[in-house]
Amino acid sequence: MNNRLLTKLLNLPGVIVESNQETEDTLILFVKSEKKTAVCSRCGQISRRLHQNQRHLVKDLPLGNREVILSVNRRRFKCENCQKPFSERLDFVANKKSFTHRYAQ
Ligand SMILES: [Zn+2]
Repeated sequence: MNNRLLTKLLNLPGVIVESNQETEDTLILFVKSEKKTAVCSRCGQISRRLHQNQRHLVKDLPLGNREVILSVNRRRFKCENCQKPFSERLDFVANKKSFTHRYAQ
């Protein structure tokens, strides 16, 4: 399926579908934030130095009769101020949760 269309259907602000895999009853969407920067959780400094990509699976609302799993890239950045890596904050899923906020509701 078309990633642009899926990004629209997913309807999570600031989130882009990069690729997808579908089976008969599941849709896996590989997503990332469209932001190029993240704010350091320690000092509040904005960083654009990508440290590493880190994917994890998160359950989201079904699309039609398919279960939707997001493979979320929660990127790690390196703070230029603290010199330490940190994970970006994502609006739609809390850290270490296996489902999105809207799925939980
Ligand atoms: Zn910092």
